[in-house]
Amino acid sequence: MLSFEHLYATLPDPLWVASQATPVAQPELIAFNAPLAEELGAKEIPDTATLAQWFSGNQPMPGANPGALGYAGHQFGNFVPQLGDGRALLLGEVIDQHGTRRDVQLKGSGRTPFSRGGDGRSPLGPVLREYLVSEFMAAMGIPTTRALAAVTSGERVVRQMAEPGAVFTRVANSHIRVGTFQFIATRQDEQALKALADHVIARHYPEAASAEDPYLALLEAAVARQAVLIARWMSIGFIHGVMNTDNSSIAGETIDYGPCAFMEQFDPQKVFSSIDQGRRYAFENQPAIAQWNLARFAETLLPLMREEGDALIAQATDTIRHFEPLFDAEQRRLHADKLGLEAQSEHAKALMEGLEIQMHQGRMDMTATFDALTQYAASPSDEHYEALLTLTTQPDELAQWLKAWQVVAVASKDAERLSVMRQANPIIIPRNHRVQEVIDAAYDGDFAPFHTLLAVVTKPFDDSADARRLAAPATQSEQVLRTFCGT
Ligand code: AMP
Ligand code: MG
Repeated sequence: MLSFEHLYATLPDPLWVASQATPVAQPELIAFNAPLAEELGAKEIPDTATLAQWFSGNQPMPGANPGALGYAGHQFGNFVPQLGDGRALLLGEVIDQHGTRRDVQLKGSGRTPFSRGGDGRSPLGPVLREYLVSEFMAAMGIPTTRALAAVTSGERVVRQMAEPGAVFTRVANSHIRVGTFQFIATRQDEQALKALADHVIARHYPEAASAEDPYLALLEAAVARQAVLIARWMSIGFIHGVMNTDNSSIAGETIDYGPCAFMEQFDPQKVFSSIDQGRRYAFENQPAIAQWNLARFAETLLPLMREEGDALIAQATDTIRHFEPLFDAEQRRLHADKLGLEAQSEHAKALMEGLEIQMHQGRMDMTATFDALTQYAASPSDEHYEALLTLTTQPDELAQWLKAWQVVAVASKDAERLSVMRQANPIIIPRNHRVQEVIDAAYDGDFAPFHTLLAVVTKPFDDSADARRLAAPATQSEQVLRTFCGT
């Protein structure tokens, strides 16, 4: 079905280590992303039973050459020199319809040489969560790994309790992480480091190859992609939850969806993950953490760079500092879009700060607020005005802010700006309580709610009865306060 290539497998050991999937008892297909398969060049899609065999790892997909990838990582600030794919297998790469090389990976396919104490398996819950959230991010145009398939294994995996097991198939521009570079750097193998860096340049940043110092240019380009990525996450309230260096993609994609969640009531300090006790990965900390991760990346590249001594350090430090203006510029652009202002509006910053205060103090739901604002911009009726005021516990203060906003908002008069505003403000996000509901139903054998939610979150700007029903913020009793890795 897919024409595999195996370029990463040619890199020095142990960046890639051959490993086989462990068959599961009774694979059954939950979902298969046919449009993505087509994008990857699939012509004929086999029957469901064959897909279940392939995407569980029970039968090797023709042309696949499975291997586990080595990487290290700073986990919550502590360096672990060897992590690696403990429950994932790279099947190979395919060249997609745009000519881009993309990884296809099984996750939950059994133990590998990097498994340490783990069972190499994945429970069904995290598989469904990653499927939903990553496909929503893709629909929002936010760089992300994609979901190609999900299969139940017919086996139980034991975590806090026994849960149904599943295998997830994900597609990434690559699975190369900051931690991949750290893995090689700690081994002080300069040849392998250069091979990895050259692979990344050729694959993700070809323009860096012709720069005076390609490795400095690689760092610069990676910084720019991360800055844009984090600004985009934050524009829709996304909290990754585990921004360890091993979960930070060199290609600038969102990767390794674990206890990630979307902020509902706006709160800059919001944390969902039960394991993030120190609040290291709180909503507002994400840009600083991304920058910290990039500094770890920079350290690994120093031996390859041209400059030497203090000048080398100064140059790398400067490059990392570029993150801030790049992030600010992207954020300003996104804020103008979200507020229906002119693209370069000088009012975006102050107005957004004002609205964030309103959302925080007035306990407003972030997605509902921007959706209501978009509806009001589209048709400034009393009804839409009142709808906005019902979202806050401080209607008088919000009314003041709305007055200031109306003076400069152009979306009501400018169809193009209105459409940009709509595209910046989804009607629906995969809300935590909805994702949980879908997982609970699946654990009872009912996958219909999963498919319904998937259909609406992958069309996040379409207004429909289903979308409106599933878009509603959680009531007090429905709220999910904590999320778990579940790995
Ligand atoms: P994650 O929290 O998914 O980013 O994983 C962190 C590290 O733990 C990676 O090296 C994973 O491969 C490994 N890991 C997570 N879950 C398992 C598992 N069930 N079996 C083996 N290794 C695992
Ligand atoms: Mg990870």
